[in-house]
Amino acid sequence: MKHTKSLIELSGVWFDYHPDRQMKEQWALQDINLTIQSGEYVVVMGPNGSGKSTFARLLNGLFIPTEGEVRVGDFSTSDDLGQFHIRRKVGMVFQNPDNQIVATTVRDDVAFGLENLGVPREEMIPRIEQALEVVGLVGFENREPAHLSGGQKQRLAIAGVIAMNPDIIVFDESTSMLDPQGREEVRELMKELHQQGHTVIHITHSAQEAFLAERVIVIAHHRLQLDCPSKDLYNQSHLLEQWGLEVPLPIRLRALLKDQGLEINEPIGNSDEMVAQIWRYLSKT
Ligand code: ADP
Ligand code: MG
Repeated sequence: MKHTKSLIELSGVWFDYHPDRQMKEQWALQDINLTIQSGEYVVVMGPNGSGKSTFARLLNGLFIPTEGEVRVGDFSTSDDLGQFHIRRKVGMVFQNPDNQIVATTVRDDVAFGLENLGVPREEMIPRIEQALEVVGLVGFENREPAHLSGGQKQRLAIAGVIAMNPDIIVFDESTSMLDPQGREEVRELMKELHQQGHTVIHITHSAQEAFLAERVIVIAHHRLQLDCPSKDLYNQSHLLEQWGLEVPLPIRLRALLKDQGLEINEPIGNSDEMVAQIWRYLSKT
């Protein structure tokens, strides 16, 4: 997909929960400058406490910058009208699926956000059905959310967000509390939402998720440290370690193979490409 229009723009953004101008080096987020184009899929990585969740909440106007500005489309989160529009444009999926469930049936849970928006009932029904279809929960309408698996609960939370028809969906460590299957379900869904044209911002501290997107942003020590194509992470492994981030497996494997005399030159985007290259190498020798 071609990225042309700048959708999200952070300029000179500083934020703190209890801002003290004398101690700006301790603020939760410091001097963030960043643009994200419509239709991008961006992974945001960083160690705990680095400012990722603060960043997420700045994107949908839940937090307002202490200094600087966050713009989404034609609006700024710093003014009231802007906030009104931006909260509808930017959906958020959080870490703990249990905390996001508000109703006693799957259908009512998806309906909740629409009711809050004042969407008329006849419009609500098709939107709920469509959202449940996207997340693969058709047939679950009358089920109790409490009895769903972790992955299903998280997909239900995503349906609630999709029903509101956002352009941008921010996932704040939304895979981290799930079992491997649930994690895979949600990753697949993120990919699908991106393919459908949503702008996806996927916050994670899992190094293995770095290659799900083409672009990776690292926030460490409250600052934007790195913004690059994920393939370029291969040249940055020492930095990842320095920031306390796990180095993704394909990068570690590549370094190990290099020590053994097997040089893998092409940039490798994921484990599959890595396996293909090793295979080609071994078939030649
Ligand atoms: P991350 O999501 O990367 O783990 P956060 O954005 O949650 O990081 O936190 C960034 C910094 O802001 C941390 O130093 C954290 O202690 C601080 N912080 C987060 N939430 C609050 C809060 N509600 N009140 C005060 N400080 C907070
Ligand atoms: Mg967080």
